[in-house]
Amino acid sequence: MIDALFVVPGNAKGVYQKLSADYSAIETPTWALLLAESCRSVGHDVKILDVTAEKLSHQNALDRIIQINPRLIVFVVYGQNVNAGTTSMSGAVALSNLIKLNKINSPIIYIGSHVQALPIEALEKEKSIDIVCTNEGVYSLWNLLSLEKINPVFLSKVKGIGYRDFDKVCLTEPEKVVPQERLEIDLPGYAWDLLPCKDMPFDLYRSPMWHAEYDFNQRSPYAAIQTSLGCQFKCEFCMINIINRNDNDPIGVAGNYSSMRYWPTDFIIKEFDKLIEMGVSTIRIVDEMFLLNPKYYIPLCEKLAERNKNDSLRMWAYSRIDTIKRPGILDLVRSAGIKWLCLGIESGDKQVRLEVSKGKFEDVNITKVIEKVHEADIEVMANYIFGLPKDNKATMKKTFDLSKELCTAGWNTYAAMALPGSQLYKNAIDMKYKLPDNYAGYSFHAYNTQPLPTEYLTPEEVLDYRDKCFTSYHTYKPFLKKIESKFGKKAAENIKNMTKIKLKRQILGD
Ligand code: SF4
Repeated sequence: MIDALFVVPGNAKGVYQKLSADYSAIETPTWALLLAESCRSVGHDVKILDVTAEKLSHQNALDRIIQINPRLIVFVVYGQNVNAGTTSMSGAVALSNLIKLNKINSPIIYIGSHVQALPIEALEKEKSIDIVCTNEGVYSLWNLLSLEKINPVFLSKVKGIGYRDFDKVCLTEPEKVVPQERLEIDLPGYAWDLLPCKDMPFDLYRSPMWHAEYDFNQRSPYAAIQTSLGCQFKCEFCMINIINRNDNDPIGVAGNYSSMRYWPTDFIIKEFDKLIEMGVSTIRIVDEMFLLNPKYYIPLCEKLAERNKNDSLRMWAYSRIDTIKRPGILDLVRSAGIKWLCLGIESGDKQVRLEVSKGKFEDVNITKVIEKVHEADIEVMANYIFGLPKDNKATMKKTFDLSKELCTAGWNTYAAMALPGSQLYKNAIDMKYKLPDNYAGYSFHAYNTQPLPTEYLTPEEVLDYRDKCFTSYHTYKPFLKKIESKFGKKAAENIKNMTKIKLKRQILGD
């Protein structure tokens, strides 16, 4: 019997509507890979079942779980992008309900942003969940796997978990996350060899369209890798740092646990080497703030540049817009094979932006920064948010007009949501705002997406504007002309086809 099976659940039907068939990315499951390798390093026998990548039906996934018969079933529920932890609960819970219906005895534990944010609520609501981890769960998992028996008497001794003792939900004392000085020891890399594949490693995973320059054929093989964990900022719309949680408040707020940890360069470059040796050149660097701390990113980029002599790597990374002003940085980044930077611009209105970003930005000239990035032959995936608390029609238009002026090769805009784990979620509860009726409603692309109102706008007005701007930008002539000249006619065609898929929205009366 193996000790733990890490299950990466698929999304429930309809979460991404028709976009899921061809357009949405399929990411390698970072935390399932990290936890699997960590447990292996202390002697446990583990496997990964990636329901999303293998496109398994729940019945097929259940059959595989029965066949593997693990001692502990570990659902790792973070989603395809950092904001999708709650959305992914829909598919996860459907599968764990099916497991319980079939009277499988192995306990089910959940690790992921939703249960970190709302551990008590999750256990009260979802009877198929036996245990939750209240943070990243490395040490809790080790300790659980060392228990003689997994029952309430023993569970009460494991820190950093929640569990049910008959009908009563109990949280144990908080557990620490892996400290910086032990990162390469207790989180010693990625269990890449446990991922499923069809003909070659990583061929079941695919990048976002834009990362592959809008060419379907370049999307696989694909992998995502983190070189650091967490973020030092406290943006109110973001729930990234909930993973570092060190208290038992019923509603966790990510901004209370902001911190960053880095793997040493000599250690993490070996993980890139493994990917490159296995034939992967399309790579996402998932770090929330890759270009923040030069002590780490400069030597790493230098080492990546040595491996990118023929410009074969196609990578992307996140950055702040104000840290890439450092002289020479952009050329180094480009030589490392980072061909796209994903920049959180959020709003074209300074007041709206500063209100929620809590010191994230120095006041920079966004247009000039983007120009410099383009001059370095790096494309930009620009991220914006409509419906931040101070947004009105004029400020949202300002954001959209700025996005057209910047004319970046990638454009992403979401309607602000009360994501569990974010300050906006806590505020929404306090303000008694309407929240989504189910997990899928927290998706940016679902039929029943339920965004937040602003001080001046209804959720309907925000979502309607977001969807119209999506089409408007992707059919904007200067944008399509740019795509055609950079990536060819086919790429522009692919974008035009994508815009034919219209998302249906319940709150807009579809
Ligand atoms: S900068 Fe803000 S939005 Fe980005 S990861 Fe950090 S807290 Fe989240």
